[in-house]
Amino acid sequence: MGIVKLIIIVLIVWLGFSIWRKLRQVKNNDIAQPSTRKMLSCSVCKMHIPESEAIIPNGKAFCSTKCLG
Ligand SMILES: [Zn+2]
Repeated sequence: MGIVKLIIIVLIVWLGFSIWRKLRQVKNNDIAQPSTRKMLSCSVCKMHIPESEAIIPNGKAFCSTKCLG
């Protein structure tokens, strides 16, 4: 009949696909972790800058001392 062969092939394909999907998810998580830093937009020029690079003197974010001054 060959139906057993077909089921085995489908199982192998499904297994391979689920392993590939799992590996891809792990990879995506690895990439997502360092880039989870918060982005802020400059109060003056509206440019988006990471929180670590922003100048926040009194609650407002600025991209550089140029916009701050
Ligand atoms: Zn700016």
